[in-house]
Amino acid sequence: MKHFLEHARSLDAQDKLSEFKAEFYIKPGQIYMDGNSLGLASKRAERALQNAFNDWKEYGIDGWTNGENPWFYMSESLGTSMANLVGADHSEVLATNSTTTNIHQAVRTLYNPTEDRYKILADDLNFPSDIYALQAILDDHGYSDGLKKVASQDGHTLTTDDIIAAMDDDVALILLPSVLYRSGQVLDIKTITKAAHDKNIIIGFDLCHSIGSVPHQLSEHEVDFAVWCTYKHLNGGPGSVAGIYMAKRHHHLPVSLKGWFGNNKATQFDMSHEFDQASDASQLQVGTPHIFSMAPLIGSLEIFNEAGIDNVREKSLKLTRFMSEMIEEVLADHNIEVVTPKEDDARGGHILIHHEQAAGINSALKSRNVIPDFRAPSYVRIAPVALYNSFEDVYRAVEILKEILDDKIYLDFDNTRGVIA
Ligand SMILES: *Cc1c(COP(=O)(O)O)cnc(C)c1O
Repeated sequence: MKHFLEHARSLDAQDKLSEFKAEFYIKPGQIYMDGNSLGLASKRAERALQNAFNDWKEYGIDGWTNGENPWFYMSESLGTSMANLVGADHSEVLATNSTTTNIHQAVRTLYNPTEDRYKILADDLNFPSDIYALQAILDDHGYSDGLKKVASQDGHTLTTDDIIAAMDDDVALILLPSVLYRSGQVLDIKTITKAAHDKNIIIGFDLCHSIGSVPHQLSEHEVDFAVWCTYKHLNGGPGSVAGIYMAKRHHHLPVSLKGWFGNNKATQFDMSHEFDQASDASQLQVGTPHIFSMAPLIGSLEIFNEAGIDNVREKSLKLTRFMSEMIEEVLADHNIEVVTPKEDDARGGHILIHHEQAAGINSALKSRNVIPDFRAPSYVRIAPVALYNSFEDVYRAVEILKEILDDKIYLDFDNTRGVIA
């Protein structure tokens, strides 16, 4: 144990991002490791929200075009702030809607089925909302049997070969996660996108579990579309407005979900009944933007742009590597398994551990002020976050986990089901 503590302290001493911890509201004594589900509040996010509220007090209706961050342009300006996180041009990125609505918008806009080519390819391990949206789209087109899923061989990960092998001639569109929400595996976006395009298949990614943790190069890799939420690693607050990327080459297509905020801004207030579609990603909006669910992002994205997403990724990989190695060594006799891939280029920003008593372990950790989340039936997901967790936090969390396992403290808790998270 002792050498891990020394190692943690030496890694903390070299940490270039340690100063950012003070930006966040962290409860004294708490080790928060659930930033992949809901990122922590920051002082800058709070200030940005207060600024938006003050603009409402100050300007009333004129807040749409006045103040430091006029509401009329907030979706676009946040798109610009997120463009470097996904590696795209600012005209291709927007903050709008929820992730699920953005899946509907992007897929309905790009999905162009024919009798011979109508299938949508997803995977067995994706988040349910993505699958519900895809199935609804297929149902609306009369292709209810059109959902094809890449199978996982081990129940946790997907292989690039299996994904590419599933790209048959009947596949029209693919939606895959960038990082799998349970195992934390990172998919090889570059190789998979190239293979899809070689077969003339439209491809998009759900970046919910990678945005703000793993850098992306969507333009360079020629990804057709992407969606992501902003309340996980981006720390935008509960239900904060989601992100969407649509490659420029698709901006001429009529968007599927039309509304007056997707109209060209210059003519929006002409109030014509003819939709004059905006020429950039702004076209993907539907109705009036949810200003108070976007404003915190102004502050939290500033932190990312100062810290640098490559530095965030570098530290995140060190944190998850340190945690996996410590768990595997210190808890070797405890029937605990780290499910997340060991290779750096296959591991996202969190790790998944398996134990038969995972629900009780999760509750016991929470009762001792370590905050992970439980995933049924027998997994704990834990995310040491680069911007607000230290290596010593990781050390302490594993030390507490060891006590819980050594003393079977999980037996004091309900081991049959976890909390909703
Ligand atoms: C978190 C998450 C969502 C959530 O979608 P919302 O529309 O924001 O509720 C969707 N897909 C994935 C892969 C997620 O991780």
